[in-house]
Amino acid sequence: MPDDAGPRDYAASLGSPPPESCIGCNSPAFFTNQLLIAAQRPDATQVAGYRKWEEMGRQVMKGEKGIAILAPRKVRVTVTDAAGNPVRDEKGKPKKELKVVGFTTATVFDVSQTDGDPLPELKDDLTAEPPAGYIEDLEKAITGRGFTVSYEADLPGSARGYSSPEGKVVVRESLSPAMRAKVLAHELGHIAAGHLDELEEYHTGHGGQRGRMEVEAESIAYTLCRANGMSTEVGDISGTYVAGWATAAEPDAVKAAAQKVSKTVATLLGEGDWTNAESI
Ligand SMILES: [Zn+2]
Repeated sequence: MPDDAGPRDYAASLGSPPPESCIGCNSPAFFTNQLLIAAQRPDATQVAGYRKWEEMGRQVMKGEKGIAILAPRKVRVTVTDAAGNPVRDEKGKPKKELKVVGFTTATVFDVSQTDGDPLPELKDDLTAEPPAGYIEDLEKAITGRGFTVSYEADLPGSARGYSSPEGKVVVRESLSPAMRAKVLAHELGHIAAGHLDELEEYHTGHGGQRGRMEVEAESIAYTLCRANGMSTEVGDISGTYVAGWATAAEPDAVKAAAQKVSKTVATLLGEGDWTNAESI
């Protein structure tokens, strides 16, 4: 299960990473969208809404059909204190805030459906430091499942890490700490989702499930990293990775994959002692 960069043609992130303060961004909705996009437009590399493209100096071309994704539905609600009484601002008026109450559909367009200014540079490495203790927690979760963890210089091809059914997880030692955490979380995702028991299906040929497994592992990695306080930059990298592998996803597979990711992350967070994680 190599965690290499995936097909490099897709070296662009899908969508924009969720903002630091976003409620529900640790939910699998973010990745459900990656899958929804892949199902509707397998060659999509970078998507944004109509107005977002305009802000970036690009126009959606005439006759292009949008891609439907899930978007948070927000309502303005009165802020209350612990006793349930409304909190007031300096002027004595009840304070209001935006709250996510569910999801609605929104329309986005792929970059290939737009025309205009060149795109900004893309990221291909993580720089934000993982929170103290996170790498150790990941190592513990992996070794707790009977696998060894080692850091080595020589890995096949461009792989950043891999896990083998013989009970080994190997990570390239030259990686930055943040990328090291992401790769460990990705391999833990493969292990916890049971992919190593499905090795016969792990290929990209007819009926192959490699795309689904990579999407699931990376979705688990993203969710786990965010739950443990890693910066949203992890979303840029995961988006790139998922875009590279999700091309084979069928619409029917979208819901099942999101549910599997959600369940696996809940299991992982529920069983370990995660230094940095809050309940999600
Ligand atoms: Zn993988």
